[in-house]
Amino acid sequence: MTTYFNYPEPALRDELKRIANAITAPGKGILAADESGPTMGKRLADIGLENTDDHRRKYRQLLFTTDKSYANNVSGIILFHETVYQKADDGTPFMKLIKDNGILAGIKVDKGVVPLMGTEGEGTTQGLDDLNTRCAQYKKDGCDFAKWRCVLKIGKNTPSYTAILENANVLARYASICQMNGLVPIVEPEILPDGDHDLDRCQKVTETVLSFVYKALADHNVYLEGTLLKPNMVTAGQSCSKKYTPKEVAKATVTALSRTMPPAVPGVTFLSGGQSEEEASVHLDAINKLTGIHKPWALTFSFGRALQASVLKAWGGKDENIGAGQEQLKGRAKANGEASLGKYEWGSWKGLQGDQGLFIKDHTY
Ligand code: 13P
Repeated sequence: MTTYFNYPEPALRDELKRIANAITAPGKGILAADESGPTMGKRLADIGLENTDDHRRKYRQLLFTTDKSYANNVSGIILFHETVYQKADDGTPFMKLIKDNGILAGIKVDKGVVPLMGTEGEGTTQGLDDLNTRCAQYKKDGCDFAKWRCVLKIGKNTPSYTAILENANVLARYASICQMNGLVPIVEPEILPDGDHDLDRCQKVTETVLSFVYKALADHNVYLEGTLLKPNMVTAGQSCSKKYTPKEVAKATVTALSRTMPPAVPGVTFLSGGQSEEEASVHLDAINKLTGIHKPWALTFSFGRALQASVLKAWGGKDENIGAGQEQLKGRAKANGEASLGKYEWGSWKGLQGDQGLFIKDHTY
């Protein structure tokens, strides 16, 4: 076995590192607004709106025309393909609105989950075939980072070795293709909260999955300083009868990371995974408040549901409520920004849907 390899050229390394560090700057995190057409359709249906191009555009316009202060807590926004090329009512491209606020644009590049034969309902994520061409184009069109979501399930016989190995490998292939094109890959091996497993089991599965992911990234010569990890927080299954305190969740999460994630990685941008907005903020805060375990990385948010549920509710598809929706976005983004520093006073931001659980069975994005 030869161990010869090259890391990217210094200029590319600097570029990737600069982007990763900007995303995880203190007090900031990511707004994950990359819901695919069908997923956005479900969000719109919840507020009684039809899933049309224009309704999706109007909703994203609400997000991106929020006054500049939301950029104090939002360093990056993940977009779905169509959103990169859409414009506001006055003709301003969304990309310009985002960049004028000093926010980095990211792009979801995976093409969804497909079944893995011989497993108990497990899958892998597709989209590698034309990924190089798409990444080159997105970089030209102003994107600086990308996201690819893999999904693992906890059950009696899952996650299987097949699923753990395959998903780690596909994430590593994706990451290397992104880096070749100057995009920082957000590596997302999401372990779903579905099930009645306890906290310990989620911790052990998270440790196993992450150890495979980092082995695969090393095998593929991925430059870790120019990557970010987007994991689940370690929580008990959705239907577990035992309840855990935020401190217990924080300890399990940080322990799992400290056992598997190299200090070379600049940061973690957690997904919210069906937690309520307040729960996600409190857990992130507890993670950052936790002492006694070394945490050499930034630990922040990349929330979808837990940053948008109240925004959608307040807006309700009505022009006169745009401002109310934007207030919800600013309030929750600020709470999460504080949580990323371990400085959130629990309950200090209520939010319209603050305590509403956002769990969706077998969630697709
Ligand atoms: P949630 O925060 O809603 O889990 O989604 C984040 C995300 O980007 C999932 O891929």
